[in-house]
Amino acid sequence: MNRFIDKKYVSLKAYIPGEQPRDKKYIKLNTNESPYPPSPAVLEAVNSNEAAELRLYSDPTSKRLKTAIAEYLGVGEDMVFVSNGSDESLNFLFMAFCEKGAAFADITYGFYKVFAELYGKKMNIIPLKGDFTIDTDKFAESRETLFIANPNAPTGIFLPLAEIEKLLLSNRDRLVVVDEAYIDFGGESAVSLLGKYDNLAVVQTFSKSRQLAGARIGFTVASPEITAGLEKIKYSTNPYNVNRLSELCGTLAMKDRAYFDKTRNMIIKTREKTKKELAARGFEVTQSDANFLFVKCPYCSGRDFYEKLKERGILVRYLGGERAEDYVRVTVGSDGEMDSFIKAADCIKKETQKI
Ligand SMILES: *Cc1c(COP(=O)(O)O)cnc(C)c1O
Repeated sequence: MNRFIDKKYVSLKAYIPGEQPRDKKYIKLNTNESPYPPSPAVLEAVNSNEAAELRLYSDPTSKRLKTAIAEYLGVGEDMVFVSNGSDESLNFLFMAFCEKGAAFADITYGFYKVFAELYGKKMNIIPLKGDFTIDTDKFAESRETLFIANPNAPTGIFLPLAEIEKLLLSNRDRLVVVDEAYIDFGGESAVSLLGKYDNLAVVQTFSKSRQLAGARIGFTVASPEITAGLEKIKYSTNPYNVNRLSELCGTLAMKDRAYFDKTRNMIIKTREKTKKELAARGFEVTQSDANFLFVKCPYCSGRDFYEKLKERGILVRYLGGERAEDYVRVTVGSDGEMDSFIKAADCIKKETQKI
């Protein structure tokens, strides 16, 4: 019991990030980072001159970055809100856009529940269907602000835009937040719906498909009205939310379309190859449009699979929970990393079949 923290936070269960162990070198397939370095333009720009500029505050409007994002998406700059990771966008959306509470799936990004509890918002947790797809009818019937990770995490399953549109139409006075952390790996972005619907907010990140997880850059695209609301919350909490170096890196990464396309295509190719190899060995894998696979080991429990991989120097994420206890989430790394993962899976298969 903490003597000084406000009572209402004593029982708060915080988000637990994936392990970042330092005890030995692992093949890290547990936090959906990119196996590739940032764009060469980014590597070149981060130099001692830029570091010297750190004595100055960052641009509170993140103007260059905002312009680059708006140009890339073909939307107005007044529709782009730049944040410190997409987690900060989500933080503000839970804080200030959930008057009637928040509805989200039982198996989805774990932070939604943490934010809802942090802000004391009413929660409506809607179970995924048996095949791990989103129950759009139940979502449509609900009254709360909707949070849909699309593709969903940790399943990787993409919900077609026609379904998102049904949710937008189900109540045009209710906000629908689509968290597109993994959209660049195969799905279709809901940004194209923003011209038609002003009750939509699309959240994206530079962490998964632009090699900048450590720079902490995310953004929300929404109507100018929603964007202005998010700006208001930002200026009431942390006006310089994106640091100078990150803003520079994000701008350059956004402008390097060729590198972005090359790396995301490599990951998609590796994902499909890994999926086939797993299926050939009897592992069950969901249809993923993300940079990870949700894998069920037929030979041992999810926790055992996680632990046996870790013993072999491979880190994956075991999330547990009643419906996902047989599964682990495996980030798609480089071809070489995935070869090591498949080899380890083969050994585990042999070992567990003997017992
Ligand atoms: C990784 C992830 C985020 C957070 O990303 P950051 O931009 O690094 O804060 C948000 N939503 C989902 C579904 C994610 O998987």
